[in-house]
Amino acid sequence: MSHTEAFAELLQRLHRALAAEADRGFVNLKGSRQYFAEFLSETLATAPGGLEDKDSARRWQDLGARYARYADLENAARAHLVAETRRFLHRIRRSLETPAPERPNGKPTAPPEAAILDQPMTKLGGIGPKLAAQLEKLGLTTIGQVLRYYPRDYLDYSNRTTIKVCQPGEMVTLLGQVRRCRCFTSPRNHKLSIFTLTLGDGTGQMQLSQFFAGTRFTHRGWQEAQMKQYPRGATVAASGLVKRSTTGLTLQEPQLEVLDEGEDLQNLTKIVPVYALAEGVGAGVVRRAVKAALPFANAFTDPLPAAVRTSLGLLDLPGAIRAVHYPESAEHKLQARRRLVFDEFFFLQLGLLQRRHRQKRQSAGIAFRTRGELIEQFYKLLPFAFTGAQKRVVEEVLADLGSPEPMNRLIQGDVGSGKTVVAVVAMLTALQSGYQTALMAPTEVLAEQHYQKLVQWLSQLHLPVELVTGSVRAARRRDVLRQLASGELNVVVGTHALIQDGVQFANLGLVVIDEQHRFGVGQRARLQNKGRNPDLLTMTATPIPRTLALTLHGDLDVSQIDELPPGRKPVRTTVVTPSERTQVNELIRRQILEGRQAYIVLPLIEESEKVDLRSAIEEHERLKEKIFAEFRLGLLHGRLKSEEKEAVIGAFRRHELDLLVSTTVVEVGVDVPNATVMLIEHAERFGLAQLHQLRGRVGRGANQSFCLLMSATKTESALQRLRVLEQSNDGFLIAEMDLRLRGPGEVMGTRQSGLPDMVLSSLVEDQDSLELARREAQSLIERDPELTAHPLLRAELAGRLDRLMDGAILN
Ligand code: ADP
Ligand code: MG
Repeated sequence: MSHTEAFAELLQRLHRALAAEADRGFVNLKGSRQYFAEFLSETLATAPGGLEDKDSARRWQDLGARYARYADLENAARAHLVAETRRFLHRIRRSLETPAPERPNGKPTAPPEAAILDQPMTKLGGIGPKLAAQLEKLGLTTIGQVLRYYPRDYLDYSNRTTIKVCQPGEMVTLLGQVRRCRCFTSPRNHKLSIFTLTLGDGTGQMQLSQFFAGTRFTHRGWQEAQMKQYPRGATVAASGLVKRSTTGLTLQEPQLEVLDEGEDLQNLTKIVPVYALAEGVGAGVVRRAVKAALPFANAFTDPLPAAVRTSLGLLDLPGAIRAVHYPESAEHKLQARRRLVFDEFFFLQLGLLQRRHRQKRQSAGIAFRTRGELIEQFYKLLPFAFTGAQKRVVEEVLADLGSPEPMNRLIQGDVGSGKTVVAVVAMLTALQSGYQTALMAPTEVLAEQHYQKLVQWLSQLHLPVELVTGSVRAARRRDVLRQLASGELNVVVGTHALIQDGVQFANLGLVVIDEQHRFGVGQRARLQNKGRNPDLLTMTATPIPRTLALTLHGDLDVSQIDELPPGRKPVRTTVVTPSERTQVNELIRRQILEGRQAYIVLPLIEESEKVDLRSAIEEHERLKEKIFAEFRLGLLHGRLKSEEKEAVIGAFRRHELDLLVSTTVVEVGVDVPNATVMLIEHAERFGLAQLHQLRGRVGRGANQSFCLLMSATKTESALQRLRVLEQSNDGFLIAEMDLRLRGPGEVMGTRQSGLPDMVLSSLVEDQDSLELARREAQSLIERDPELTAHPLLRAELAGRLDRLMDGAILN
């Protein structure tokens, strides 16, 4: 292997590790030999031979050194460091690909004053090495980075008051000294940690409480660390809604912020930014750094043409950056946010639209024959007629398939809406035009199920189908792979096993991917790369509200199957409490006695899978021995081997089991029409979209089905959330509600998207400005697809693409 090849491979390995770490939410993954952070700090410790320029070599090692402390960093800081590393490596990879030193189409040279933004913080007065080291824990080294470190929240001291005069029902901010502070495990719930803080402000005292659910928080170590943050005498700002409690007046879910000694108390008359922090970095540290850097905000060049800015009423960039940190009023803060969010979204849309423009222009796809025998025969075989929505989507798909531009279409449709049959029509189109087609699903269970269905249909058309998963025996698999490579076999269904290097196609024309959001962009691309510009059809049963769809799929065409096949009875859903346990068990028993089957779903809640697994196993035992002793029970959980899982599901499908106790692994795709009841325990711990997904496992046959959402919660908002499911069976509406109630980061796992939190929250709050940005980007790309007339925009986009490409959105 040559020097460069070895280097490229090293970069590839780093890329994979970083991507996996980001995908999993920065948990410091354990690999086969070592933890993520160890791997990074070891690998980056010495700059490799392929890295020629000195600056990059130094940077390489600097980054490596920072991974030594990765495990101590908070999530936000970990995300920051990972993102920075990925950007850096991405740049290096690119420079390997374009060895020519001069890049005529590259960035214009930055104006000289911009260079100040790349200077280390220590260049500024008042920022010494100690402070710089603390900032580094947050991934912040340069002045520009500090300025781009936006607050995660604000404390608004305009409603500041004193303990003595506050009234129940008011939103207030209090400033007081810590008198006492305790942190202990709740005597009633060993998974709940309670933190109480007594503040005094000279006019009175108030006791505040915070609750932390989860065994992680009941460790003594965590509790001690929590208390250490609030030393006696420290000044704390507390904000929240005043309410009565048994200990007198208190604040509901108080937001607490420790003010550093010597922090400029004058500022506390205004709006004070609150930043995401790391262990050992006080709140005042970031504020001080930001203040020192703020005079240099002018060095940011605004890439947006002034005309666009004025017509949309946006602040200029330096102004927005200043205001996002220290706004003069609540309104000013909103303006800053609006501008910065606009940018994020605008450049994302520019990137997506530009990419799509290029795709359509450059790559010649396949123009399939969309009329033919196979499709006709298939329609005759089907025991049902397509719904209106299915017909419409089939037309949309066929139009794409028939055109020479490569298709990139997503079908969204609720569980059971009949996406798979639509995909089959597409696959037959490819087959009758002489191409191969592959369907990939995220789990073995789902792949197996699709396989069964395809066999059932295609065997009647005398078309062989094969399955490729991790559990298919080696000899069989070799045979299948040989047939795929030679072109004897034209249809294959499988899991990730399909994207392995050994899998080759003679003539792959169409790739279908089910539950597409469960795959990374890279994985989808790898399957596509096994053909020459094959068409891509993706499917998802997790419907996405429009704004989010625009964000995540700006470069896809989206079809919606928004109608269920006729005769389906909507699942009857009820929120129940533990006091109704007897009736719940009765309902399950009655259904089983009538010959139906049931699911009981237990949530996976804790960080420790072991605890959950134990509780799932115990619950299964208890149900089997005490409650449903007369029935045949099975247990399904994520730790089973795939053959074991398949055996349990198979038995349930064949009705050798009456009741399946399961963790959420049952969520994806298990299709047993005879199952009519699902009981979901601790329903409040799930997101609405996930509950809806789970509920989709019942109501698949002709019988009336039931979904029981068990919850002991007394929190009104949690109950209200669950009641959305009682009232609606509409996946899109539920997704929209979920987004509003929980926020998009949670809902979509968009933490990984590479978008800042601020943008994520505005997906809900500020849809108008997103639409504006989209429209602006669209008209720009139509006029000037390569942005040749807009060098500043082009440069900004190039810089941001690095980051966006690292996220799940572009790749
Ligand atoms: P999805 O993949 O969207 O969850 P499927 O394609 O698996 O849905 O369809 C769910 C079930 O409904 C399958 O058993 C399928 O055969 C059946 N089905 C699909 N379309 C129709 C239709 N138009 N009329 C009746 N049944 C249908
Ligand atoms: Mg499906």
